Amino acid sequence: MSLPTPAPLPANAPWIVMKFGGTSVATLPRWQNIRELVASRHAEGARVLVVVSALTGVTDALKQLCVEGERGRRNDAARAIAQRHYELLEHMQLALPDTLGARLGDLAGLADAGAAALGELAWQAQVQAHGELMSSALGAAFLSHSGLPTEWLDARDCLTAVALPNQNERTRLLSSMVDSRPDPQLAARLAGQGEVFITQGFIAREAGSDARAGRTVLLGRGGSDTSAAYFGALLKAQRVEIWTDVAGMFTANPRQVPGARLLQRLDYEEAQEIASTGAKVLHPRCLQPLREPRVPLLIKDTNRPELEGTVIGPEVRAHAPSVKAISARKGITLVSMESVGMWQQVGFLADVFTHFKQHGLSVDLIGSAETNVTVSLDPTENLLDSDAIAALATDLAKVCRVKVIAPCAAITLVGRGMRSMLHTLSGVLAEFGQLRVHMISQSSNNLNLTFVVDEEVVDALLPHLHELLITAGALRTDDSDLFGPSWQTLYGGGETAGAATAWWRGAQRPALLELAREATPRYVYHLPTVRQQAHALKTLAAVDRLHYAVKANTHPAILAALAAEGFGFECVSPGELKAVMAAVPESAPLLFTPNFAPREDYARALGTRATVSLDSLYPLEHWGELFRDREIVLRVDLGRGLGHHEKVRTGGSGSKFGLPVDQLDAFLRLADAHGVSVRGLHAHLGSGILDEAHWGEVYAQLASLAERIGSVGFIDIGGGLGVPSHPGEAALDMVALDRVLREVKAAYPHYQLWMEPGRYLVADAGVLLARVTQQKGKGALRYLGLDTGMNSLIRPALYDAWHEIVNLSRFDEPATGLFQIVGPICESGDVLGTDRRLPEAQEGDVMLIAQVGAYGKVMSSRYNLRDEADEVIID
Ligand SMILES: *Cc1c(COP(=O)(O)O)cnc(C)c1O
Repeated sequence: MSLPTPAPLPANAPWIVMKFGGTSVATLPRWQNIRELVASRHAEGARVLVVVSALTGVTDALKQLCVEGERGRRNDAARAIAQRHYELLEHMQLALPDTLGARLGDLAGLADAGAAALGELAWQAQVQAHGELMSSALGAAFLSHSGLPTEWLDARDCLTAVALPNQNERTRLLSSMVDSRPDPQLAARLAGQGEVFITQGFIAREAGSDARAGRTVLLGRGGSDTSAAYFGALLKAQRVEIWTDVAGMFTANPRQVPGARLLQRLDYEEAQEIASTGAKVLHPRCLQPLREPRVPLLIKDTNRPELEGTVIGPEVRAHAPSVKAISARKGITLVSMESVGMWQQVGFLADVFTHFKQHGLSVDLIGSAETNVTVSLDPTENLLDSDAIAALATDLAKVCRVKVIAPCAAITLVGRGMRSMLHTLSGVLAEFGQLRVHMISQSSNNLNLTFVVDEEVVDALLPHLHELLITAGALRTDDSDLFGPSWQTLYGGGETAGAATAWWRGAQRPALLELAREATPRYVYHLPTVRQQAHALKTLAAVDRLHYAVKANTHPAILAALAAEGFGFECVSPGELKAVMAAVPESAPLLFTPNFAPREDYARALGTRATVSLDSLYPLEHWGELFRDREIVLRVDLGRGLGHHEKVRTGGSGSKFGLPVDQLDAFLRLADAHGVSVRGLHAHLGSGILDEAHWGEVYAQLASLAERIGSVGFIDIGGGLGVPSHPGEAALDMVALDRVLREVKAAYPHYQLWMEPGRYLVADAGVLLARVTQQKGKGALRYLGLDTGMNSLIRPALYDAWHEIVNLSRFDEPATGLFQIVGPICESGDVLGTDRRLPEAQEGDVMLIAQVGAYGKVMSSRYNLRDEADEVIID
């Protein structure tokens, strides 16, 4: 089968730069993975530039070659390195491509000749550059051979090293910097050559017109990431993607703090700060080139491309200030300098720092007082050997009293607007009260706060501080837009609640296949799961009454099951009231909580037993007679919203819900005038919230408002309880939630507490069954078509919701393909899942889309006049 050739990209198509490190390019399966990822970006309509490192181990082998004194041994080393590449070629079933042949030839020549002709450092740079030159040549051959025509690009023709003051020959050749101002001519030239390119990380060419011009130079630490950033800037790329073995930056080093959360969004400054204070996933140096041209950088996990990763960009988001990360650097040396009388003399500090310069030591933190200046030396910026420090101390002793304190560790809190967060840090500061704190430093950019302590305390301290920051609300992990799943849940394998144990994975599979044989698309609901969730909610001792928010799923069997569990029902329209009253006994309490409902809706609801809620002045101002002498619930807006997506946040000044608190007095006057009594106070701020503390806050805020009203008998803190939806996310901790609620209740025992969850009760209970209709390769993406799409399940299109998708017919087969799962609707948004790893599928296979019991069927439509999915109950 041959795929149709896609239309050529326009000359101004955007660029995407993708960087892959050494382990990602070392084996055939990893290259197949790269091919799919590159193809998917190309299929987005972008030109792609791939930047690669050398195969793992090759750079070290080349460095080793450089220190061999004997020609014979150098030649042996070069042959062994060549052999690595031949073996990979053989796995790929490729003949030796000319580009690679030429590089291997050059390397053999360099090894044989030795350093004499070029000079030691220039020769080393030239030899070491071959790791990337070879891996990229091999990659170009592989990608082109597998149907993705790829141009091999010599990075040295694009990246020009700039001469810097204070450079010596070594830094000039082995730790170079590049001028990376956007270069439209380069972009245009490349656009004329092709659509997919591969080039080398780590290397550039020296500029200048003197005899040295044109020598190969290396970029030093963080080399390949920095190359990708340089290219991103030169091409003014749409984005730079750094593909690695972890999904991004975390709120702490996951090796020290397994509960550290993925940071999904950062601005350049914060990311730079986190990278500089300990995170290893990105070299801090590689963000600088991207700032000015405002090119975003993504960190993505090669093995888990479906994870969002970390996006680092120019937007400084208007957030409640939050600590973003806590990090620790060990091996810090402090130098404390005590005055011997001449402290305030002009030039004293200059003299002191001259000694640091002379010994090649760069200073990190500085703390100063009338008679003391203390500085820290960071091992990542200095070659800290005790000789250098002893020599420094001897020199300094001539002008002051010196004390060297080591080993120390610097613990740093990072977050924009640090100074405005101090009040949230009291618990954290108290922790430091137990320790010897040698130094505290607050960065002048207001992005970090650092404590230098003895090194030995750090390992035990860090997880504890991370936890404290969360419970104190300083690290606002309730903001699910910013803070992703924890490392533990992503990679720890352990507590992947929900998903891993979902009911449809086990004994129900044959029944599901049978149901799909009868008809697809079809929703299937598992009542035992609904009951199990109901039981979990009923463990909340603090809650006096539970309602089910029926808009999540109005199936009569689910309504009846929840009525049997003692739930009340929360409805938002006359239609929902009618459906509920038809399905549940008279005794079940009802709430009517509409928003912008017309007058007649209120009139109808008031004719039922439902408790009606209001959330604006208008109904009382204009239809006051309707509500005369009634008891109502007032829904307020507490001024902020939360939730898994902007479109599900129902609090905050940007949302249409709730009475703003500043209109409360006006509302109460109107209520009084009509004999209306406010019996309940209500807030519902959003959906999919997995942080227990949130409800405690809402509860406490509502209760303190209720104190101003007088007639209130119950507080309804809404729904919004999340279920883990991304791979591995941790479930809500009901014990912790109950504890939070009971604490507030202890302060306000005179109010009943009500809740009204929807999603939590039904999401995991429902699956959507659909059938594979066909496949299509387009560009290099593979589309898997199902017999239904956004018409049955709109959440992925509407909220970017992630739903697990499995091939139920091939449940145990290996997932060897990467697919885009799409439906038959004439909309480009008709995608149920992107970049999914699944077994090779065939027409007729039954696919299962998980966790669709909430907001699935109820949001479906007959768009394109396609039949709606039917619904089946398993009990
Ligand atoms: C939708 C809604 C709920 C339920 O939200 P979930 O996220 O499904 O728990 C609760 N209360 C009100 C007022 C709602 O509109």
